[in-house]
Amino acid sequence: MARLIFLGPPGAGKGTQSKVLADSHLIPHISTGEILREAVTGQTPLGMKAQRYMERGELVPDQLVVDLIQERLDKPDTQSGWILDGFPRNVIQAQILDFILSKLSHDYDRVINLDVPDETLVARLLSRGRKDDNEEVIRRRLEVYRDQTAPLISYYESREKLVTVDGNQSMEAVSSALNNLA
Ligand code: ADP
Repeated sequence: MARLIFLGPPGAGKGTQSKVLADSHLIPHISTGEILREAVTGQTPLGMKAQRYMERGELVPDQLVVDLIQERLDKPDTQSGWILDGFPRNVIQAQILDFILSKLSHDYDRVINLDVPDETLVARLLSRGRKDDNEEVIRRRLEVYRDQTAPLISYYESREKLVTVDGNQSMEAVSSALNNLA
């Protein structure tokens, strides 16, 4: 049983690493970015509301992601644990998550902060070529990360839940560092 939150800037490798870890623990990998992208592709009501924010590198409104995550955490497969990737992304979302988990009588075990320097992030994102990976949007996403998401590092540090892992190494090296934690 593991309940983990992945924190880190865009391009840190959260998606890749958290997916591998979730598969090896046989627990669901819950990525708000992935769920939102699917909603945009399917042009669902959620996708239609989220699209313009995502295209500009902004966070989508808290209410949309909170509803989405609440619904996802209510599914029976979360009993075995979960990995959250991309949520929470600001202090309000973190507070709401604490509230949701207290109602479910769940708690997270650890928050993993994947640490990667800016130069590496930009290079990785530019080579990835996702729709929101053009230079201007990348710059905005990094700014949003610094202003809104990075404060979560001290939020979780003060709760003694944070572990920082050096994400500026090969995929295999990061995976093995994570396996040694879990
Ligand atoms: P990355 O880690 O590369 O930024 P994600 O797939 O996690 O990519 O997120 C892509 C986009 O989805 C974000 O730029 C944002 O617009 C939206 N998004 C994802 N998660 C959240 C969240 N928790 N709160 C608000 N917006 C979110």
